[in-house]
Amino acid sequence: MSPDFQAVLDDIATTLQPECGMAGQVASYIPALARVPAAQFGIALRTCKGEEALAGDATTPFSIQSISKLFTLTLAMRRMGEDLWDRIGREPSGNPFNSLVQLENEQGKPRNPFINAGAIAVADRLVSLGNARADVLAFLSDLAGELVDFDEEVAASEAETGFRNVALANFMKSFGKIDNAVAEVLDLYFHQCAVRMNCVQLARAAGFLSRDGAHPVHRRKQVTTERQARRINALMLTCGTYDAAGDVAFSIGLPCKSGVGGGIVAVVPDHLTLCVWSPALDATGNSLLGLKALELFVAKTGLSVF
Ligand code: GLU
Repeated sequence: MSPDFQAVLDDIATTLQPECGMAGQVASYIPALARVPAAQFGIALRTCKGEEALAGDATTPFSIQSISKLFTLTLAMRRMGEDLWDRIGREPSGNPFNSLVQLENEQGKPRNPFINAGAIAVADRLVSLGNARADVLAFLSDLAGELVDFDEEVAASEAETGFRNVALANFMKSFGKIDNAVAEVLDLYFHQCAVRMNCVQLARAAGFLSRDGAHPVHRRKQVTTERQARRINALMLTCGTYDAAGDVAFSIGLPCKSGVGGGIVAVVPDHLTLCVWSPALDATGNSLLGLKALELFVAKTGLSVF
C-alpha cells in the first residue's frame, strides 16, 4: 500500500517550520533574487497515477533558475537526439556551477548540461532550432497544465550582472562551440532561468521523468522515449545538484535538479515526482531546507532508486 503522502508532506512541513529562514543565505549575486524573503517553505508531489499532495508555500511562484536546465535539455534531446552530445559531455564537474576552468582543457566542451556552460551550449542548440523563448514557455506550460511566464525583472537583473555567463559563452564561442550570437543565446539562457513556477507546477511538469517519458497529464502523449527519460534521471543523479551531487546521492538517493532560487525537483522513477522550495541556500548553492525535506521524505517513505 502506498504511504499517505499528504500526511508525510504535512509532517515534513511541521518538522521544518522552526528552522525556516533561520540558516543559509538567499542567493545574492542576482540582485532580484536577493530580495526574496528567506522564511518560506513549500513542498508538492505528483504520483504516476496523477494524485497530488502539497504543504506549506507550495503554490507560491519562485524563480526556477537552474531547474530550467532540466527542461531545456529535454527539449534539445527531443529535437536533436544523439547529435546533442557532440558538444556537451555527461560527467560530473566537481567544480562550481559557473566555473571556467575545465572548459579550457576540454576545448570549450562543457562537462555536462547542468553546469552553466552546458546549459548555455544547450541554449545555443535551441536558438538554432527555432523560436526558442516561446518554445520553452510553451513546453513548460504544456507539461504543467497551466500557463507559465518569465519574470522579466529577474531576467533583466541577470542580464545586468551575469558577467560570468557572458565570459563562459564567449569562451565557448572562441572554440567554435557556440553557433549563434552570444547575446541571443544568453537572452534565452537568462529568460529560461527567470521562469516563475510553483512547487505544484514543477512536480507536475517533471512527471514524465517518473513515467518512462509519458506526458504527466495526457496519458497517450510521449514527452521523451523511455531511454531518454532514464538518461535524464541519470544526469540528475550524477550532476543535478552542483558539486554536492555525490553527497545528495549518498544521503537522499534520488535524481534531483536544484536551482539557486531555492527549488529542487526530485524523481522517484515509477512512483512520483516531488518539488521542494525554500530560498535559503547552503554553501553548495542547494536549498538548505529543501535537502533536509528530501532526506526526511525518503526516511519516512523508504523510497529510493537504490
Ligand atoms: N541564472 C543562474 C546563473 O546563471 C542560474 C544558477 C543556478 O540556478 O544554478 O548564475
